[in-house]
Amino acid sequence: MADFETDYLIIGAGAVGLSFADTLLDEDPDCHITIVDKHAKPGGHWNDAYPFVALHQPSATYGVNSMELCPDRVDTHGHNAGMYPLAKHSEILAYYSKLMSERFIPSERVSYHPLTEYRGAEGSEHTVRGILSGEESTLNVRRKLVDGTYFQTSVPSTHKPAFDIAEGTRFATPGDLPSLWQQADNLPDHYIVLGGGKTAMDTAVWLLEAGVSADKIGWVRPRDSWMFNRKFLQPAHARIEGLIALQEGQFEAAASSESGDEMFAKLGKQGIMLRIDPDVTPSMFHYAVISEGEVEMLSTIKSVYRQGRVTKIAPGRMEFGDASADVPENTLFIDCTATAVPFSVRDKVGPMFDGDRIKLQLVQVPFVPYSAALAAFAEVHFDDDATRNNLLPPGPLTDTTATYPYALMVNLMSTGTLAANEKTDAFNARSRLHPTGPAVAQMIANNDPKLSILQNFRETLQNCLPGVVKLGMAAKAIHEAG
Ligand SMILES: Cc1cc2nc3c(=O)[nH]c(=O)nc-3n(C[C@H](O)[C@H](O)[C@H](O)COP(=O)(O)OP(=O)(O)OC[C@H]3O[C@@H](n4cnc5c(N)ncnc54)[C@H](O)[C@@H]3O)c2cc1C
Repeated sequence: MADFETDYLIIGAGAVGLSFADTLLDEDPDCHITIVDKHAKPGGHWNDAYPFVALHQPSATYGVNSMELCPDRVDTHGHNAGMYPLAKHSEILAYYSKLMSERFIPSERVSYHPLTEYRGAEGSEHTVRGILSGEESTLNVRRKLVDGTYFQTSVPSTHKPAFDIAEGTRFATPGDLPSLWQQADNLPDHYIVLGGGKTAMDTAVWLLEAGVSADKIGWVRPRDSWMFNRKFLQPAHARIEGLIALQEGQFEAAASSESGDEMFAKLGKQGIMLRIDPDVTPSMFHYAVISEGEVEMLSTIKSVYRQGRVTKIAPGRMEFGDASADVPENTLFIDCTATAVPFSVRDKVGPMFDGDRIKLQLVQVPFVPYSAALAAFAEVHFDDDATRNNLLPPGPLTDTTATYPYALMVNLMSTGTLAANEKTDAFNARSRLHPTGPAVAQMIANNDPKLSILQNFRETLQNCLPGVVKLGMAAKAIHEAG
């Protein structure tokens, strides 16, 4: 006989598992939920993040449906001035702790087991192990196992670098940088940021804002990246025009382009997509969001190494396979090479609902918490897996400019499918995690004059649809070829 009983066993107390649990609690007032996680506190990978990390998208659509994450006002200073707040590391962790201690636990319908690893199942009996005690216990899961670990988020402090580090090399993760003040009499002469993603950008901005001059920073950027311009991604209730312009721009550019690169170049000209170096055509697109101010700052770093990935670092030297580069002897190398979402997980895309298991994936790329909340809604309000899977097919995790039109096309299809279903349409209209749902519902209720923008948008969509699908299908073939 099992030690405990529950209706839903959720693996992972990260953004995904917690968003699913939050919506499930509201939509199914009778169920009992058990959440296990290896971390000591709720929040998943945010527990391991560097202290100066912040969301790169406004907090308005992050977290869980039942609780706002940040105040509803614009920032007044810094490179996010004039835009809506981006929750900081401490705010995100405090938010998830509050959710657990003020909503989940007092509901008496959630059992939370931190520092606990999920081990596997035999039939409906599942085994978990306390990481510090080493003790195993069993749970009888009456309804379903919910896997909230699909994204396998990887951050610098917990990943293992894939390059050699020679003895005597000064090496750090971004999380080590704020303690540099403790080495005030032994500071590095030079800094090399390793990696081309958002963590590397955050790190370079941090160094520049901390007073390190741009000529003391080198940057190993194997691939350059396009990024969304944050000013187009402001909360819909405040600035729906930006989001509509972003969507319209994407559909028009996709419909009139023969390749992803051509589409991004058009979006770059309109300022919808940003890049750091106007002379380099980026091949990477990881859905990062950035401000024009950050891009301007980052473009002051002129020492950029594009020989590929480093294979070895040593005092005064970096190797890139057969090539190498000399750097000042007293250089601090900063590892930003962890890929936040390892895109290799795309191979594992499969139906979300599969009998007594739910594998939480993306319904709308890249809206991670929204997709998990919608999955909980579908679990409760539709009777069979075939219906749920037809409504919520997983979106692809594309990572290049060539393959992104595939994700754009799938998002468009999914938007149509969800809008055509009365129940999911109503859910979107009240989900704070949905990028436009509640704002549009409010506009309709108030007969807002801005509704005319939406009418124009629908016409643009109709006109662009064939072209978006053509480019999307070509991108799908590239994505599937690997
Ligand atoms: C620096 C950074 C910034 C980001 N910024 C944004 C942003 O602004 N907006 C956005 O939408 N996304 C952002 N992301 C993407 C981010 O990955 C997702 O938003 C989200 O946090 C992922 O949550 P998750 O629950 O999938 O993963 P995680 O946070 O990794 O949670 C999964 C949890 O599962 C647990 N687990 C795994 N295996 C087991 C097991 N066997 N037993 C028990 N527990 C287990 C882990 O301990 C972990 O706590 C960012 C990512 C990074 C790295």
